[in-house]
Amino acid sequence: MPIPDGRWEWVMKEHRILRSLSSEEGLRLRNLATVFLAEKRFHPVGGIELDDDFRVSVAAQACLPVLNLGIDWYRSWKTVIVTGDAYGITRTETDEAGVVHEYQDELGGELLGLGPVVLSKADVEASGWGDGYNVPIHEAAHVIDGADGSFDGCPALPRDIDPEEWRSVFTAAYEKMRSEKRGGIKRVRGGRGARVRIDPYAAFSADEFFAVCVEYFFEKPVVLRGDFPEVYALLVRFFRQDPYGRL
Ligand SMILES: [Zn+2]
Repeated sequence: MPIPDGRWEWVMKEHRILRSLSSEEGLRLRNLATVFLAEKRFHPVGGIELDDDFRVSVAAQACLPVLNLGIDWYRSWKTVIVTGDAYGITRTETDEAGVVHEYQDELGGELLGLGPVVLSKADVEASGWGDGYNVPIHEAAHVIDGADGSFDGCPALPRDIDPEEWRSVFTAAYEKMRSEKRGGIKRVRGGRGARVRIDPYAAFSADEFFAVCVEYFFEKPVVLRGDFPEVYALLVRFFRQDPYGRL
């Protein structure tokens, strides 16, 4: 089923992060989104309803990272479960003294093992504004990271990227993020220009650091490039696109 012209034009205009794509890139994104919609099933839960605008919005944003890599990266991703709003979970964290702390957090999305991706409708609607928060891209980054079988913040790399270089750049940046974190590392929801610095949730773990960096790479490249220029440069080489250069 092709995406109707009017709906695609709406998606490209509504999502600020897509506006800077060239017409050729927009056409390729549309083709990827069409395949995405044909291959993945959407399961709304909790009695919510999804319309075609919503499905195309998710598909277009999720396909942006693989614009120059191909949809094969999402081979294991078959299902998109959609909840109405963010949902609560209990996290535990061990501090430097070995004391375990329990706290409540909210999730706007999550990747369940190597299978379905859960997205909250409200959080999808808070994505794409160019403020750094993007749940479809965040979860897509986890899918890309885990495509080699391990969620460690290091996806299967192309030949021209040295895994040692990747590890040392990302480890140094992650350690810096952890050492500078103040207060909690709960996820901070965005929404129209809400955030100017990298979400402290990036300090949660190496795989979350990667996913949050990918969100900023596409949503607010000026922040990632400013805070972690070497991470930004590696992501340009990995994704074969330069969102900052498009601005
Ligand atoms: Zn995550």
